[in-house]
Amino acid sequence: MNPNYCPKAKESAPQCDDFVPDVRRAAGFPLLCIVTRPENHLARLALMPGRFEGKRGLVLGVANKRSIAWAIAKRLADEGATMAFTFQGERIEANVRELAESVASPLITPCDVREEADCTRAVSEAAQALGGLDFVVHSVAFAAAEDMEGRFIDTPSERFWMALDVSAYSLVAIARAAEPHLVETGGSIVTMTYLGGERAVPHYNIMGVAKATLEASMRYLAWDLGSEGVRVNAVSAGPVRTLAARSIPGFPTMESIVAERAPLRRPIDAADVASASAFLLSDDARNITGTILYVDSGYHSMGM
Ligand code: NAD
Repeated sequence: MNPNYCPKAKESAPQCDDFVPDVRRAAGFPLLCIVTRPENHLARLALMPGRFEGKRGLVLGVANKRSIAWAIAKRLADEGATMAFTFQGERIEANVRELAESVASPLITPCDVREEADCTRAVSEAAQALGGLDFVVHSVAFAAAEDMEGRFIDTPSERFWMALDVSAYSLVAIARAAEPHLVETGGSIVTMTYLGGERAVPHYNIMGVAKATLEASMRYLAWDLGSEGVRVNAVSAGPVRTLAARSIPGFPTMESIVAERAPLRRPIDAADVASASAFLLSDDARNITGTILYVDSGYHSMGM
């Protein structure tokens, strides 16, 4: 089999999750039927069954099957984890229920992270339903679409703080609620960030400021919780096509630039973020905390 071709592609190329022909074309690849990362199907086979056997976690941030949180949850379920899920708003409830039930989740509960009481209740319900908590996946962010269209300088105060509240403070609120449970198990938290928190990325605007706050919060939480054996880390993902990504006007450019200029010259997908997150949450990373793991084909290391 030619490893440059998706094994599923022969029968159902357009349905293949990894089929992103326009990105590859933008990067100068003439092939019609290629995958974002040929190894993906093989990588999925290379699971480590049992690594999360008996581990219990809470996953925040699944909106649909394209969500990074869902890719992480699937990966962890494949490795033996049992998880509770939160969802925000009735609009996505049915979606999240269907996905969560497919991995035999014992709890699917609403949680708007802007409400601290909601965070506390969701964490406590999860710990109760699961009989304890070994990990938390925080994969939540929001900024108003208009603030990513125009200039950062025009962001009004109310929407500035709203973006920071949802996208950064929520990690602090969730960590505080989860602390007593994670201390019991020597557990771990992982959150999702993006290079726009360190560098100015056109259109990322207020979300970049929120990611900078999220990353700093992750480090301070790692310090606070480290003495209790609890680890806190972040994955900095390259562009992945999701609901949240669709609201960034410059997203297609972000995608094609990574495919063109990253050392590996290929885009990443949600499964890549999932395997890095699983590593950080696992005992394999027992002495790793307060760190950012880049999953971006190496793009962050470039100067041009
Ligand atoms: P997504 O839209 O699937 O996930 C975002 C989630 O945030 C949704 O489930 C949404 O319901 C939730 N959310 C928004 N406001 C909320 C609130 N008030 N309370 C509770 N939940 C709320 O998109 P995604 O791309 O999977 O995003 C997940 C994380 O990954 C985000 O932190 C995002 O910034 C980060 N990230 C994404 C990319 C990318 O290219 N997609 C790259 C780097 C980092």
